[in-house]
Amino acid sequence: MMEQIEVLVIGGGASGMVAAITAARYKVHVLILEKKSSLGKKLLATGNGKCNFTNQVQKAACYHSSQKDYPWKVIGQFGWQESVRWFDEIGILAKEKNGYVYPASGQASSVLHALQREIKRLMVEVHTEEEVQKAAYDNQRKGFLVTTDKAEYFAKKIIISTGGMASPVHGSAGDGYRFAKKFGHHIVSPLPALTSLVLEGSFCKMWSGTRVQGTVSLYDEKKNLLGKDTGEIQMTAYGISGIPVFQLSRFAAVELEKGRKVTLCLDSMPEYKKEWLAEEFLKRKQQNEKQSIRDLLEGMFPDKLASVYVKKIKIADSTCVSELSMELFIRLAELVRHMEFSVRKVSGFEKAQVTAGGVCTEEVCPDTMESCLCKGLYLTGELLDVDGDCGGYNLQWAWATGFLAGRAVGRNRNGEKNDTNQSVKSASGRNSQKSAGRTGKMRKDRKRRAASYKKSGGEASAAGNSRNQRISGH
Ligand SMILES: Cc1cc2nc3c(=O)[nH]c(=O)nc-3n(C[C@H](O)[C@H](O)[C@H](O)COP(=O)(O)OP(=O)(O)OC[C@H]3O[C@@H](n4cnc5c(N)ncnc54)[C@H](O)[C@@H]3O)c2cc1C
Repeated sequence: MMEQIEVLVIGGGASGMVAAITAARYKVHVLILEKKSSLGKKLLATGNGKCNFTNQVQKAACYHSSQKDYPWKVIGQFGWQESVRWFDEIGILAKEKNGYVYPASGQASSVLHALQREIKRLMVEVHTEEEVQKAAYDNQRKGFLVTTDKAEYFAKKIIISTGGMASPVHGSAGDGYRFAKKFGHHIVSPLPALTSLVLEGSFCKMWSGTRVQGTVSLYDEKKNLLGKDTGEIQMTAYGISGIPVFQLSRFAAVELEKGRKVTLCLDSMPEYKKEWLAEEFLKRKQQNEKQSIRDLLEGMFPDKLASVYVKKIKIADSTCVSELSMELFIRLAELVRHMEFSVRKVSGFEKAQVTAGGVCTEEVCPDTMESCLCKGLYLTGELLDVDGDCGGYNLQWAWATGFLAGRAVGRNRNGEKNDTNQSVKSASGRNSQKSAGRTGKMRKDRKRRAASYKKSGGEASAAGNSRNQRISGH
């Protein structure tokens, strides 16, 4: 006989687990169907195994969507403090470093185990190694028929939490787009984001393995700045990587998808003026007129990067500095501060941490995550057309959407109203005083940072520009 479920959650990742727990706290009978052998496999890989689960610096510009103001409507209801408190209630003490919030254990596994313990405590039913193949609305029975590779279920409500397409090895292979389309939803073309860039040119092999503290800027073909970020940049055999590059990759992906050219500019010495660098080259020449250009650059730049500079400036490695003019040193200084490359492509979903694009947010209520097209259908997490910057924003998005969906189905069942913009109260029945105290210091830090942020002119790490809608029909 077909199993009857109150709420069926498709996908037991970050947002699905929070949705299930939140609904179960309202005494809803919840079943999670997860195709992998255990829940939350991706969570273990987050933050290099440390799980950067939220960030104290929250701004609308940290989230990207075709509907620019949509993410903030959601985060405004469940922000970083709510995440910290929510996790504290299930046993995760938060610690922060420069605004980035991690579990104090330093282990992603502790976050996953806490979620799993809570799922068990609330007696949420979990079926692993069961892949959902189809979900359809049954008009007669006023509910959803869900077909897996093992069974068929009838559920009054379903929450689709299947993630996007990034890192398919962890189970997210885009199945949710197919399910959502069946219910009439539109999909903004999914693109890889928070990933490395493949650059044109043969020099990449020369610089492979080099790391520099620098700035990368991304420009569209009209030379408009798409984004800019500073930090550790890693040169690879195919192009360029590192967190600053990750932050820009979504903007490159969107432009390239439109068939437009994208240029990346590397500044490997943002703290020095061009004039100072040219003078420094001249001073080094005067100190030893017999040295080669490579000798002159040694001690200022990593070897492999110096080779690329010499190649780009079109002189031989062995050229004696006595042959080099101040004019060439000025050109070299300009290159150090502004070396341009054409971006060939963005690395694929296998390497991406997140998906840009997804289910069109205009069709999903930001207070409840319920579909505007099909009552009783909820959508959460990366599946939606929202992606966050690197730094805990994507998990924050997953927790927020999971919480709102779980709360909505719970309240609905108990006949409570789903008021909009209500403050989030503890639903676990546990004492949340302690956690509020613990976050007090973090709150003060946040105020301090907000003040210094204002002082600095409030420049966002990556341009918060939205893109045109990339909706594919259904
Ligand atoms: C390497 C890596 C590091 C990251 N680090 C961070 C970080 O430190 N901080 C941060 O904020 N974000 C990080 N992210 C991003 C973050 O992990 C995701 O954005 C987040 O997990 C998305 O949550 P989700 O619930 O939408 O989807 P997911 O967590 O991807 O979960 C989806 C689940 O659905 C299951 N599923 C899919 N299809 C089916 C189906 N047909 N039937 C049944 N089950 C199905 C999948 O197996 C999976 O378990 C990282 C991502 C990666 C890949």
